[in-house]
Amino acid sequence: MGLNVLLVEDDASQRQALGRAFVAAGHRVSEARNGAEALLALGTPNRADVVVSDCEMPLVDGYQLCRLIREDRALRHLPVLLLTAEGAPLSGFWARTCGADRFLRRDADPTPVVRTAEELGARRGGSGATAAVTSGELRLEDVLRRLARAVESQLLESTLRGAVAALYDGRHDPERLATGFIELVEELVLPGALVMTLPTAEGAVARGVAGPAAAPEVRASLVARLVAGGHLAADADVRWRIVEAGAAVAAPAQGVITVGVPGAPSSGAIGVALTFDAARRHDAILGVALDELGRVLHLERAHLDLLRLATRDGLTGLLNRRALFDALDAEVQRAARYGHPLSVILLDVDHFKEVNDSHGHAVGDEVLREIAARLGARLRRVDVVGRVGGEEFCVVCPETPAQEARLVAEDLRVVVASRPLANLPVTISLGVATFAGGSDTRDALLARADERLYAAKRAGRDRVAA
Ligand code: GH3
Ligand code: MG
Ligand code: MG
Repeated sequence: MGLNVLLVEDDASQRQALGRAFVAAGHRVSEARNGAEALLALGTPNRADVVVSDCEMPLVDGYQLCRLIREDRALRHLPVLLLTAEGAPLSGFWARTCGADRFLRRDADPTPVVRTAEELGARRGGSGATAAVTSGELRLEDVLRRLARAVESQLLESTLRGAVAALYDGRHDPERLATGFIELVEELVLPGALVMTLPTAEGAVARGVAGPAAAPEVRASLVARLVAGGHLAADADVRWRIVEAGAAVAAPAQGVITVGVPGAPSSGAIGVALTFDAARRHDAILGVALDELGRVLHLERAHLDLLRLATRDGLTGLLNRRALFDALDAEVQRAARYGHPLSVILLDVDHFKEVNDSHGHAVGDEVLREIAARLGARLRRVDVVGRVGGEEFCVVCPETPAQEARLVAEDLRVVVASRPLANLPVTISLGVATFAGGSDTRDALLARADERLYAAKRAGRDRVAA
């Protein structure tokens, strides 16, 4: 049982040679000289089981033909075999991305082409369908209009994907991301509304845009849906941009979409209120934007996780040694350039070995975590604190002259010593050093703080040496 083969080829002698090979193998062949003719042929009530097409052809080439077939509801499943020419630029890339079932490099022997077409045709026969033609007659204008529409939707999709992807620049700025995304898709949503929430360490950021179809009740109900879904705190501050332009229309349909990549935890959520008209026109393209946004958020989350792993101490959550020293480097440079005061405090737990020895390592860990929490609670936002050794911590205090740093250190000593930690009396010793300007360096600064820390230890512990 032969196949109906549509052979698309602009070169007459190639077309005839291939046609003969198919007929010799028992198949029926219809011919087209380019993609436009092929589409016209597929639009008539002919039957085709498989399309075998050249790539480089005038009017509509093989790749475009393939795209158009894939976008046509009736033709979508029609197998396409593309024959690529040796050395044509990007031929492999286009063949792989246009949706062809197979592509073969053309050579003098037509046998592999016939074999492959038979394989594709048989697969199709297996699914029981032979006829795959659009209903009604296609005219050349229809073909050109389809082509233009396909090109435009591809362009819109890839432009939109590119624009959303460009929102991710490696800086962690959820607010910028949310605002940027809303600006991109606002036209698809208005006169309805869209509100986007992204989780951050300080709670979710929520930004929205709303048009005349999204009255205050609609906005409130969108927010309520996000709150109910656990994407937003009930008292969250949602910042709306209200676009007044356009006429008020009937109540839009509402929904909440979680954003992320399949298989990964959601990394944000979007509430939309769309008018019927906007939903019908922009549904697919909004889907593309959300899909790409999911990828961006996933990337951002992975980046943050890595950053955290690389810069944080696993036990206390404070900066690790390297990150703390990097931060100190930056502060030393600033202090040197602008002549601002800068101090560092090194502190070490007293007789910590005894805590471990008499209460176990787990209690020792608990003590370290609690010390970290107390230090963090006492310090100013601009101070940077890290764990630089087993039971040794370092605090960088920008804009802090020696006298003030000494007071900060004394405060830290008191917050640790004043109350038991994990039910144990624990004390720390501290060494303070202040940037001296000129040829002073980070390492010299740390060395001075270290000397004083050991001076404090020698002098009896539970004290500050400055
Ligand atoms: P000093 O007052 O002179 O500082 O005495 P010390 O016992 O605190 O000093 P030493 O350097 O002899 O002991 C430090 C101890 O800290 C030894 C080590 O087992 C413990 N340590 C280091 N890192 C950790 C940790 O992550 N968890 C726990 N539980 N103990 C740790
Ligand atoms: Mg110690
Ligand atoms: Mg130590």
